Amino acid sequence: MNTLAPILRSTGQRRVWLRVGALIDGGSTPPLRNAHVVYTSGGILFAGADSPPRSLLDSGQKEPDCDLPDYTLLPGLIDAHTHLFLEGGELDAEKRAAYLEQTPQRLLDLAGQRLEKLVRLGIIACRDAGDKDGVGLALSKQCAGEHRPLMPYIDSPGAAIHRRGRYGGFIAEPLEDCPTPRQCVEMRVQAGAYRIKLIPTGIINFKKGLVAAEPQMTAEEIGELAAAAKSLGRQTLAHASGDTGIERVIAGGVDSIEHGFFVRDDQLAKMRDRQIAWTPTFVPVQKQVDHAGRMGWGADVVGNIKKILDRHAESLVKAHAMGVRVIAGSDAGSYGVAHGIGFLDELELMERAGLSALAVIHAATGASAERLAFREKFGWVKPGFLSRFILTRHSPLDGIANLRKPRLIIFDGEVFATNGSEGFTGL
Ligand SMILES: [Zn+2]
Repeated sequence: MNTLAPILRSTGQRRVWLRVGALIDGGSTPPLRNAHVVYTSGGILFAGADSPPRSLLDSGQKEPDCDLPDYTLLPGLIDAHTHLFLEGGELDAEKRAAYLEQTPQRLLDLAGQRLEKLVRLGIIACRDAGDKDGVGLALSKQCAGEHRPLMPYIDSPGAAIHRRGRYGGFIAEPLEDCPTPRQCVEMRVQAGAYRIKLIPTGIINFKKGLVAAEPQMTAEEIGELAAAAKSLGRQTLAHASGDTGIERVIAGGVDSIEHGFFVRDDQLAKMRDRQIAWTPTFVPVQKQVDHAGRMGWGADVVGNIKKILDRHAESLVKAHAMGVRVIAGSDAGSYGVAHGIGFLDELELMERAGLSALAVIHAATGASAERLAFREKFGWVKPGFLSRFILTRHSPLDGIANLRKPRLIIFDGEVFATNGSEGFTGL
């Protein structure tokens, strides 16, 4: 497979013309068979069923540089919920606690070591969901800067906003630090936040099998924060689990609901009508089952968690059928959720929940790109978008797990072969 790399590489303006057996463009329509794609390092020039027009080719290009009838081409993947300052794969609780004690500079250095690995896994963009050490903001700045290293697209909300003394202190600063909610938002934006992350609720109490704590914020507070963000051209992503808290974030008018455990069907309908996206993040909860022994969970707690996951799976299927904008995000950095690899886990869990592989890919590519207003154009294989995609002989439409099998990643004209045996440590 490596022999393909030199042909697929586009340095400078060299136009690469491919014909592939199947093209998944990032949307929800079935793949195009025997499709043509033309790209340079700067972006995609053509994607379609017919041969590209001569004007889009280099002189002398009479036929595709590569004819790959066994291959599927799809957009690179977008993980819409990550915490890049954390190492998710670490399972030892003491080591995890010690990790957080490191200096912000050290956390940034360690996060920096993840970036190329993510590209090689086919993760070409991350919407970071917050940290208070400035790691996400620094990476977002690097990404937008002139001397960008090989890294996925990254944007960040900086420190999330929570209520003092309530859940989220490790990634958030309190609302009470500012005289008004609006000033809280302004402070984030001045620090470089591309979006605003809110933590209006607590988390699931696995022993009780529900969200036991009252929400941290009132609907009015959420509304003020979301409105301030909107007036400054920023989207709002809200951590929310438990139907009381979900009701408040819907009323507050946020752009996306993160996690959303215990969402009710009537709330899904409101989310659809108000175009509030949903990032269900199955994998951090699934990891509590996978590592129940280490977590100290007995059979009763594991039973609770499985019930919660089953209900979440049902909600996902309903949400998709109802037309809620579902977006894939892993919550990478959470316990047991390694960056990149955890996102592949998430996609498999969404498929296992009952979505078609095509719907899952849409949630990880085009749907994300359409709703989340990224600074760069990716997530689709169509003209005008960046050339960041995955080329594989193992069609993910036959099972999302195929995304783990050997594949080529094309990223702005560079080509990386990933065969699954790389040492992806530190993720
Ligand atoms: Zn998170």
